[in-house]
Amino acid sequence: MNAKVWLVGAGPGDPELLTLKAVRALQHAQVVMIDDLVNPAVLEHCPQARVIAVGKRGGCRSTPQAFIQRLMLRHARQGRCVVRLKGGDPCIFGRGGEEAAWLQGHGIEVELVNGITAGLAGATQCGISLTSRGVSRGVTLVTAHTQDDSELNWAALAQGGTTLVVYMGVARLEQIRQGLLQGGMAPHMPVAMIENASLPQQRECRSDVQGMVDDARAFGLCSPAILVIGEVVGVAQAQLMEWSAAG
Ligand code: SAH
Repeated sequence: MNAKVWLVGAGPGDPELLTLKAVRALQHAQVVMIDDLVNPAVLEHCPQARVIAVGKRGGCRSTPQAFIQRLMLRHARQGRCVVRLKGGDPCIFGRGGEEAAWLQGHGIEVELVNGITAGLAGATQCGISLTSRGVSRGVTLVTAHTQDDSELNWAALAQGGTTLVVYMGVARLEQIRQGLLQGGMAPHMPVAMIENASLPQQRECRSDVQGMVDDARAFGLCSPAILVIGEVVGVAQAQLMEWSAAG
């Protein structure tokens, strides 16, 4: 394999949710740069590689983005096969596109490898069909956290008729609740808050928009977690069985 940078999604946490392509990239890697939401168990596929932790989780000591990019560039220019491992999918709230463009702009070959994004994994692991037939015609993935602290158009989201999956929302539950209620969402719209999706310590807190802040507090909801908001969360098992029988 030629020297290049693979920007690889490591999935939501369960090492078995890694793609075959991600495993192959890890097996060939000489340098692996790993984000802190990546389960270190996936490193079993690259015992030969030098592993560099470059996590930059909100509120913790962080590795500046420019430094990470320069480090990738340096190793690639020295002819090494570099794997940059990111949680979930590299292009869902993961800067995969930016990093790829920057590296390509510096003459480096880049390959992006999909991972299963946490929002989709969390819902499925909790038995929630994000696009239940007759209930939801789509899914909207949003982040509650932005660098400039700008607000989402909550009214559009509340009235859009799609299931909402919110990333990075734990510290902003009150703003999300207020935004949705003021935007016209029904106070009893079901909500599932899913912590550590796909990991053995996965936990799920069910609530509704009105009660989500208090319920999350009582539950002790911690990051990383995603929120699934919409009628699909309330679709009972019995209903799903009825639909499947109806064909
Ligand atoms: N690229 C990642 C998202 C990175 S943003 C992806 O595609 O999944 C980080 C946010 O992702 C966290 O704040 C949380 O909202 C979510 N997240 C990541 N891993 C998670 C997990 N195992 N369980 C629940 N949420 C998770």
